[in-house]
Amino acid sequence: MAARGRETLRHGPMKPVGLTNPHPGTEKPYAVVQLRQDNALATLWNMVGFQTKMRYGTQADIFRMIPGLENAEFARLGGLHRNTYMNSPNLLDPQLRFTSQPNLRFAGQMTGVEGYVESAATGLLAGRYAAAEATGLVLAPPPATTALGALVNHITLGHVSADQQGAPRSFQPMNVNFGLFPPLAEDWQYPRDEHGRKPKGKAKSVARKQAMTERARADLAQWLSTQDGLIAAAE
Ligand SMILES: Cc1cc2nc3c(=O)[nH]c(=O)nc-3n(C[C@H](O)[C@H](O)[C@H](O)COP(=O)(O)OP(=O)(O)OC[C@H]3O[C@@H](n4cnc5c(N)ncnc54)[C@H](O)[C@@H]3O)c2cc1C
Repeated sequence: MAARGRETLRHGPMKPVGLTNPHPGTEKPYAVVQLRQDNALATLWNMVGFQTKMRYGTQADIFRMIPGLENAEFARLGGLHRNTYMNSPNLLDPQLRFTSQPNLRFAGQMTGVEGYVESAATGLLAGRYAAAEATGLVLAPPPATTALGALVNHITLGHVSADQQGAPRSFQPMNVNFGLFPPLAEDWQYPRDEHGRKPKGKAKSVARKQAMTERARADLAQWLSTQDGLIAAAE
């Protein structure tokens, strides 16, 4: 990340957004390291977002360069974590049911999604499917154009098990990202500015993501209203 530029960390793990500084008269921080308390004695603090592949000695040297951490003792250094997860594309149906035992549903990190929001989102969906089934309803899957749908689609259907040359590709944990969404309609056009010009460079990707987000919001609202209608009809 650091190799991508001096400012990269400040927009990632060290982003100073959403934090208030309790010390009066001090400016908004340039960058922050969030410390999350790890034990009741308050002697262990986790540096949020600092999983790194750097060598342990190098990590300690670099972290001590951060103002306030000059004399820190490091109880455990960072490493990339490894998730234990199932081969969902082969084992789960789009309603998150275990195909060989459909009364069993799975959700969360063990299904191959990664992250807090992704894990909670699949849990919510599995819960809605189970509740619907218990009341004799069948919920339509969230559209693939929404983040929920794109993610569940990826873990249950969308994963490609071989590359274009036919070599097998293993199923890897997935955060939600724009690459999972279906492309915009072929006749979609870039928005023009007041001079009628199309966006260029990075602005093109921002415009595409904005359009995908708007499409997702509209499709999610439509999907939710159908669900609410079904539930109201059942009541
Ligand atoms: C070091 C680290 C940092 C991370 N940082 C971030 C981050 O900054 N942002 C982010 O979005 N995600 C982060 N993640 C990922 C995130 O923590 C997980 O994706 C998410 O917590 C998974 O939620 P879950 O409910 O699916 O699983 P878990 O949170 O693992 O919950 C599973 C639960 O099941 C319990 N359990 C296991 N076996 C049994 C059993 N046999 N019987 C009963 N209970 C059992 C476990 O004790 C646990 O409480 C991080 C993960 C790690 C390891």
